[in-house]
Amino acid sequence: MSALQNYSVDQIYSVLSSIFGFSTFRPYQEEIICSILNGQDVFAVMPTGGGKSICYQLPARLMEGVCVVVSPLISLMKDQVDAARTNGLSAGTLNSTISTEERNSIGVALRQNRLDLLYISPERFNSEYFIERLKTLKIAFFAIDEAHCISEWGHDFRPDYLALSKIVHEFPDVPVTAFTATATQRVAEDIINRLGLRNPHLTRASFNRPNLFYRVILKRKLDEQLLNYVKNHAGESGIIYRSSRKKVEATAAMLKSCDISARPYHAGMSDTDRQVTQEAFSRDECSIIVATVAFGMGIDKSNVRFVVHADLPKNIESYYQETGRAGRDGEPADCVLFFGRGDIVQQLQFVNEIEDTDARNITKEQLWQMVNLAEQRGCRRVALLKYFGENFLEQNCNGCDICVNTDKHVDVTISAQKILSLIYRTKESFGAVHLADVLVGANTEKIRQFGHDKLPTYGVGRDQSKNYWRVVINELIARKIVRVDDLLRPVPKLTEEAWLIIRNQKNFIMQQPEEHEKDKSKFNQITASAVANTVGVLPFSELLFARLRELRTELARADNVPPYIVFSDRTLHEIARFFPCTVEEFQRIHGVGQYKYATYGQRFLEVIKEFCEQHPDEVAKWRQHQLPVQKQETSGQTSTFIETYRMIQQGKTIDEIASERQLTRGTIISHLEKLGELGKKLSVDQFFVPERLEQIKKWFKQSDENMRLKPAIEASGGKLDYEEARLARIFLKKS
Ligand code: ADP
Ligand code: ZN
Repeated sequence: MSALQNYSVDQIYSVLSSIFGFSTFRPYQEEIICSILNGQDVFAVMPTGGGKSICYQLPARLMEGVCVVVSPLISLMKDQVDAARTNGLSAGTLNSTISTEERNSIGVALRQNRLDLLYISPERFNSEYFIERLKTLKIAFFAIDEAHCISEWGHDFRPDYLALSKIVHEFPDVPVTAFTATATQRVAEDIINRLGLRNPHLTRASFNRPNLFYRVILKRKLDEQLLNYVKNHAGESGIIYRSSRKKVEATAAMLKSCDISARPYHAGMSDTDRQVTQEAFSRDECSIIVATVAFGMGIDKSNVRFVVHADLPKNIESYYQETGRAGRDGEPADCVLFFGRGDIVQQLQFVNEIEDTDARNITKEQLWQMVNLAEQRGCRRVALLKYFGENFLEQNCNGCDICVNTDKHVDVTISAQKILSLIYRTKESFGAVHLADVLVGANTEKIRQFGHDKLPTYGVGRDQSKNYWRVVINELIARKIVRVDDLLRPVPKLTEEAWLIIRNQKNFIMQQPEEHEKDKSKFNQITASAVANTVGVLPFSELLFARLRELRTELARADNVPPYIVFSDRTLHEIARFFPCTVEEFQRIHGVGQYKYATYGQRFLEVIKEFCEQHPDEVAKWRQHQLPVQKQETSGQTSTFIETYRMIQQGKTIDEIASERQLTRGTIISHLEKLGELGKKLSVDQFFVPERLEQIKKWFKQSDENMRLKPAIEASGGKLDYEEARLARIFLKKS
């Protein structure tokens, strides 16, 4: 990273704290931001939730000119724009969904060089006209989101993205930055070539997501298991992935019938239905989405607390992508895979339908890797990261079922011997279900047909449940004590090691098999706190948190934005731990920037106060915690216009504010312009009597459609000065 040339580190941190409300950067953010500020091209691969947006939003704020953000989904842009605006950035989009008024006002903001971020879709670059228009603007830099869409090697190729290769030719002096969450080395090179990036600053962040807890649960009675699971996670947002539309519908219906707020999502639904569903999820109006893999790109929701795979994913890449949608806010989140060997058979059927031999073999190999990940007894994180070529070196990841295993280990050598000798006696030709049936002495057609009720092992396992035996058999398979050759008909066969166990030369020790039986809520807690420790989340008052969530939903609804845009879960957790009671304390909470404070702070403080009065016991328990780091003092333009907003809300006049703050009247008016643009409510009565505004409106009308100041001032024949015209324009624009 080269030294900063035109900006200071203080400036960067000041924006980080005042706009975004954070006191430190996540890994790689700072170096990317510095490179952008120095005018260098950038190519960054960072995992979902790694914090890519700040990497371009922060420099967009500081740099002169607009940052043009290319984003693949029009449906997402509104949320992106809203999120930027709630932080006090001036952002807009030009696409088919916005009103003419909005388009005009963004046009004006662009011409006046007042916009920080302009979100547009890639196909715009197919239009000569559009490119010519862009050329008339001062562009700080381009930021290409989901850049892997330009590569045919990637998993989400979108032909529209190809038009982006024009950018470096059409705008040779403007830096181009590209971001993605997925790129193998090959895809990365492809992206850089196609975009024509010039000696870009390269970042490849670790794929490790320390806040995600990975675990695999043996799939038995899936409905029951799912129900249990979601009941243990009541009130949290989550995604349940299933492998087919039919299963999606069935699971969603099952959950609904148990009064759980769940909705289906798959490619067989109309665009509108899908959009409505996604929106309801995003706004916390529906807690759970049951989906096929069609529910993917564009889930910007940061507070997804769990991702469940109810069926086996087809490869590790998909598994990583899908689980990656959990916990973007950095708070602990849970990733559960319900795994049964039956799923392998089903996936293999899909694989066998692939006609091209090479493709089929690759797909099969990938499936096999996924199965290994699910079955192996080593750390899941190590295995996952290894797939992406990363070595995870910690002894204990503290974030997977294997590492955090609290179950007792028991010696089940005798059980194993019973199974293995049965396998031997039945000539290594039967699957786990049948073996378990024989052991518990079941009376099935198949048992009678093969005369297995005559075997000495028939019924020797009556003292245990059928499920116990299946768990032990599975463990024997997973640990490769027995071998299965044909995945379509998994029939365990004995290995050398199996013989050692049969001959009493080796013991077989495993986790208490009965423990698999229960979906342990105890386990839930342990897992949550393990990850929480890793990512440094402290406990908080659940009661206050619940109240804050309600308030967040209410405020979000009023502003017509998703709740996580108001404040993240992380922010609410901190509030519910530290009980901030003063403005100063509140502003030290993670994620509270000046602008957000001005917009939502008072309401939150009121609710906290009210809560404290009603729950003195909770206060006694939590209020002792001291807020840790002092957030940095802020300075510069951002905080200053927020301060103006605060004073205006107190009913002060422009002159009063100017004299109190020793600023000019013109500066205060420029703050008001900024606030107006950001959609902040300014009450016109505070500045004009109606007649006067009406008069000024006429002068504007007489002169110019674009509401330029000079013609209006001329039209007034000396009765309107520059400052008053600017002030009036804020309100006239709106009407
Ligand atoms: P990505 O686009 O890489 O998936 P986002 O930009 O949406 O990730 O960021 C994910 C979450 O992390 C957001 O909730 C964001 O507010 C938060 N975040 C980003 N940078 C920081 C930071 N430096 N400190 C704390 N939280 C951050
Ligand atoms: Zn682990």
